[in-house]
Amino acid sequence: MSKKNQYQPDTNAVRIQTARTNEMEHSTPMFLTSSFCFDNAEEMRATFADETDFNIYSRFSNPNVDEFVQKMCSLEGAEAGYATASGMSAIFASFMALLKAGDHLLSARSIFGSTHTVITKFLPKWGIEVSYFDINDPAGIEAHVKPNTRMIFVETPSNPGLEIIDIALLAGIADKHNIILNVDNCFATPVLQRPIELGAHIVTHSATKWIDGQGRVLGGAVVGKKELIKEIYTFCRSTGPSMSPFNAWVLSKSLETLHIRMERHTGSALQLAKALEGNPHLTSVKYPFLPSHPQYDIAQKQMSGGGGIVCFELKGGLESGVRFLNSLQLLSLTANLGDSRSIASHPASTTHAKLTDAERASVGITPGLIRISVGLENIKDIVEDIEMALEKSK
Ligand SMILES: *Cc1c(COP(=O)(O)O)cnc(C)c1O
Repeated sequence: MSKKNQYQPDTNAVRIQTARTNEMEHSTPMFLTSSFCFDNAEEMRATFADETDFNIYSRFSNPNVDEFVQKMCSLEGAEAGYATASGMSAIFASFMALLKAGDHLLSARSIFGSTHTVITKFLPKWGIEVSYFDINDPAGIEAHVKPNTRMIFVETPSNPGLEIIDIALLAGIADKHNIILNVDNCFATPVLQRPIELGAHIVTHSATKWIDGQGRVLGGAVVGKKELIKEIYTFCRSTGPSMSPFNAWVLSKSLETLHIRMERHTGSALQLAKALEGNPHLTSVKYPFLPSHPQYDIAQKQMSGGGGIVCFELKGGLESGVRFLNSLQLLSLTANLGDSRSIASHPASTTHAKLTDAERASVGITPGLIRISVGLENIKDIVEDIEMALEKSK
């Protein structure tokens, strides 16, 4: 690996690259190989004994995966990292490697659905105690810390409710009580928010979303303090949620354009949020960089842009939500976000349909909540399609 980490983040995202082979290729080739060869028995012995850093087997390491990990570490300002097959395997590995029976995990209540399932359905089965705190009561968070609390987990901005948590405040609590602060930085990406600089110890990612940016492959990453990543690496190397070299090749290429894409997504999302404010069919519009956002001040403090997701609440509730989706012409109805194509979703009738109204309300999902992932199309077309569908949603 060529060590090119001395430039600005957007330059590093383009220029960090696996060392050239003898073919002198300009673009990193795909290393689609399960294992790697040794010249002789001594070299193989030394590599298995950790005396060299040669590759052994692609479940442990691979040049394409290493290139992606190096870029992620550089962008997040992290000491070390490991890439996984999906965002969920990154989050799951961070729990499994760092928590044990008898430990307590303290998590924000507003988190991704599958993360909620892992926390409530599986961790207790393995003797890991879990509890949720409400981000709307930041002064009350520290009271949830117990003597056995080992990790605080948060997602900010949260999916889908766009709630924002003060990372520096949590880092203060975590350091005071010797707790690991684990931040899911999927929505902001390292372009807009760098949790490690604010005191987080590890950062987890779904690379499937903005990092891929074109809705093609699944991937995940966990980066952070060397000694914590070492544990996660040992867990993953043995249990096998590794990222495929093909996906790593795609995702490393994606990182080259992450900065310019996030600039466009963020600029268009802010324009959309402003265009929708005051729309007669809506009761509210939520976007981190709108002054009306409940945690606007925190967003301004810890993010350099509001990101590509805009949420709004339809006056007509659940049925209006269904009519809105059915009226869209341009936007896609699909279970993803962070794509070059704009996407609309209505959590109450889809991802969160199985919950009761009260359960939905407790995670900030109201009957008329619509989440828009703002793509790279011309913003005029995006706004027009949404305004047309709002007219028909009455
Ligand atoms: C999608 C998502 C995940 C899970 O990532 P996958 O790549 O789908 O496994 C985790 N956290 C957040 C905030 C997400 O949006």
